Amino acid sequence: SVTVVGSLNEDVLLAVGRLPGRGETVVARTATFAPGGKGANQAAAAGLLGPGVHMVGRLGEDAAGDRQLAALAASRVNVRRVLRTTGVPTGSATIPVEDGSGENLIVVVPGANALLTAADVDVPSVREAQVLLLQLEVPLDAVEAAARAATGTVVLTPAPPRELPAALLERVDVLLPNEHELVHLAGAGPGDRSPAALADLARQVTRGAVVVTLGARGVLVVPADGGPALLQAPPPVAVVDTTGAGDCFSGALGQALAAGAGLPDAVRYAVAAAALSTTGPGARGALPDDETVRALLPR
Ligand code: ADP
Repeated sequence: SVTVVGSLNEDVLLAVGRLPGRGETVVARTATFAPGGKGANQAAAAGLLGPGVHMVGRLGEDAAGDRQLAALAASRVNVRRVLRTTGVPTGSATIPVEDGSGENLIVVVPGANALLTAADVDVPSVREAQVLLLQLEVPLDAVEAAARAATGTVVLTPAPPRELPAALLERVDVLLPNEHELVHLAGAGPGDRSPAALADLARQVTRGAVVVTLGARGVLVVPADGGPALLQAPPPVAVVDTTGAGDCFSGALGQALAAGAGLPDAVRYAVAAAALSTTGPGARGALPDDETVRALLPR
């Protein structure tokens, strides 16, 4: 089984002719509501790929929370441990997107996500999961408690990036940053961003395994034993929107590891799944099923 402890948000996408300046009012052409949040996106991706996926987090008692629960259930995610908080809204991200340029602004309201506690995550689905997927959009206390309680493989996406306590890093089996997050964690300045240089940064951050996602370039796998780093390129796909590709990668990696794959095979599977997820709009517009991912794997 795969358990995700993390954020659940509602994304509010506003189509605007021009982004507003300070003190200015603009009128949006359309407003689109979409279920989001890194945690919930990872759970949705994992749920569509296989059975046994559980989500642990907090929503408000509002319509956005209801929409998120319905979306997760439709992705075959068990939501019994998604708690509802009264008097606090479901987390949200409001994103005006400018016509033509695609430039955006983002205002995040953590809402109920900020109230997730260590006690909330002390549940059997966290302790007993074969794979636990974590990110940093909920309080660090809850993330650390989940990592401590876990008996399975712990995968941490360090986003949004922040300094990580050594005690947490020690509990992480696979650290899963994108390039920007890795550079931040390593405290590195501008410089060489070749695969070899990135592998050096990864080894500065932790002795554990690191999988660095590199967008269209694929991923860099830096093994735990100090062995050689390996770059894995994505298969060719018709890219529409890369939003949430990293979340799909996590969910797929979690499913493959839970099914017993070793890290290199799990990464191959996740690279194919994440590539497919870019072929439709938004974070969840093109999440693939297991059969479609397998059809894309080299044999
Ligand atoms: P994030 O979404 O967290 O910023 P990345 O942009 O690195 O993370 O994307 C995560 C993974 O999704 C990549 O490592 C890659 O496997 C896949 N991916 C992202 N963009 C593309 C693309 N244009 N073509 C194919 N795969 C992609």
